[in-house]
Amino acid sequence: MKTDKTSASAAPARAQGQRVFEGLGVAPGIAIGTSYVRESGNLQVVEYQVATGKVAAEMQRFRVAVERSQGQVGKLQGKAKRIHGTAAEELGFLLEAHIQMLRSSSLIGGIERRIEKSRCNAEAAVMAEIGEVAKNFAAMDDPYLRSRGQEVHEVGLRLVRNLTKAAYSSFGHLAPGSIVVAEEITPADTALMDPQQIAGFASVLGGAESHTAIMARSLGLPAVIGVAGLIGGINTGDAVIIDGSGGRIIVEPTAKCLGEYEAARRAMARETKSLTRLRDVAAVSRDGVEVGLQANLELPREVGQALAAGAQGVGLLRTEFLFMNREDLPDEDEQYRALAEIVTGMAGRPVTVRTLDVGGEKISSALGEHLVEGMNPALGLRAIRLSLRERKLLDAQLGAMLRAGAHGPLRILLPMISTVGEVQDVRQAMAVVAKRLRRRGVAIADPLPPLGVMIEIPGAALAADALANVADFFAIGSNDLTMYTLAIDRGEEQVAHLYNPLHPAVLRLIQFAIQAALRARIPISLCGEIAGDPRYTALILGLGVRELSMTVNALPRVKNRILNLDMQAATQRAEVIMDQYDSGRITALLDDFNELGMAGG
Ligand code: PEP
Ligand code: MG
Repeated sequence: MKTDKTSASAAPARAQGQRVFEGLGVAPGIAIGTSYVRESGNLQVVEYQVATGKVAAEMQRFRVAVERSQGQVGKLQGKAKRIHGTAAEELGFLLEAHIQMLRSSSLIGGIERRIEKSRCNAEAAVMAEIGEVAKNFAAMDDPYLRSRGQEVHEVGLRLVRNLTKAAYSSFGHLAPGSIVVAEEITPADTALMDPQQIAGFASVLGGAESHTAIMARSLGLPAVIGVAGLIGGINTGDAVIIDGSGGRIIVEPTAKCLGEYEAARRAMARETKSLTRLRDVAAVSRDGVEVGLQANLELPREVGQALAAGAQGVGLLRTEFLFMNREDLPDEDEQYRALAEIVTGMAGRPVTVRTLDVGGEKISSALGEHLVEGMNPALGLRAIRLSLRERKLLDAQLGAMLRAGAHGPLRILLPMISTVGEVQDVRQAMAVVAKRLRRRGVAIADPLPPLGVMIEIPGAALAADALANVADFFAIGSNDLTMYTLAIDRGEEQVAHLYNPLHPAVLRLIQFAIQAALRARIPISLCGEIAGDPRYTALILGLGVRELSMTVNALPRVKNRILNLDMQAATQRAEVIMDQYDSGRITALLDDFNELGMAGG
């Protein structure tokens, strides 16, 4: 086996002076640091010979990578159209050339021949072929043709990244204060970012409610995503400001601009510090109604932060973190240890653990053949559907949860439920796992943990009264509920402006689910991203929810909003809002109410 290092593409000509890029500000705050542009990094390619019987599978793997690459370049073309001036034209030509190469070019044919004839693994075949093609271009007299060699190289690197998927190693080698810039940043990438070291990040692709955005908020990393033209306009080592609140990236800022942002950053830090005084204050409205505030956790290391922010429990623990950035599946023991640590860390406060919710935009390479992406991943074998098909996966998770439940209060939450039968199936599976563990003398939760349902599919909201008969509690997932109700991909920047939880259809579904839970007298919470945005607090509570779960960093501001809220007035305003048909009018009614409330009116 031979390891070969491919070199980085040559840096584009250095642009001069301050440059400003606009995108979606998805995680608030200001980061000031030095950029690390990931796409310019080196890739390690391993070379080996494929067994004769596996050549067809290798070819298929390569074709999937080609398709994925075509999709990415297609998206970049869409973004490039929104840049103005000659840069757009230039980028457009470049991307068109990339697409041509990825379609039936001699480059693709050459790579396929190497896989077929020499039984070369796909990554090595790509590197060998682009090496040769680029060499031929480099020998040409015409400067234009010579520059095409660079493009071949870039196409090759994209193919290799898509073949290896986990092409990007951790960010551990970066200096503290680094700002990561990339074409696309996945939730798994974000899980590798240590906020002590990474100051913030920016990417060309991605939508505001993507899991990457959620991870950024939970790590407290200022982030701007969906930024057209970013990669060509920034180099590793540039000074950069990420304004995650305003959705702006400033490269090589002037001294004046830097000074202004430094002052704004200090003011934000002062405000955050002043809100820490609320840590031990109960979230009670002005007219005496108490609201439970819990934390959404993405990573176990957040337990300390949740306690420091005064969270009364964990309202949503996304177990996906256990399956990210690895090639094997965690077994029951490993999952048990991770969950037990969190339950113990929360010291008697309830922990709501959700079964695996991968699929859609949350892909885990560890699931390998268990998770084959279909045409419409968000509508495919995702979340509970995958768990119920892969029973071993579900049993290992349930076993770990039941065992962790012996250390403190634990609830089990099921994602993407659409039918009563799914809940019954899981309850039955839980009983079988419990019996097995008891027979072995293993300590488990007694009584068995409550089993809850995420209300995040419109059909589940509409069938909430039926689901309330089989569920012990509900958690409204407004992120997916908005996506599925409005048919807007939450991770797709091209339709991000249409994503609106204040659409009357979304609100009616939320109201319907709340009323079903109240009638059935089962607890209901809301754990989508709107729970962590003080702008929505009055409306959600006005609709009858008394339990919110959110990213830890959002907790103090939401609590502050509740302390300033008159619950009776919020309930009346929610009634008026629910009579509206127009989301613009709803927004205005809510914003007016918030302004009056925070002004003490
Ligand atoms: C949701 O969909 O609102 C939710 C909380 O789950 P996730 O964001 O993990 O899909
Ligand atoms: Mg969801």
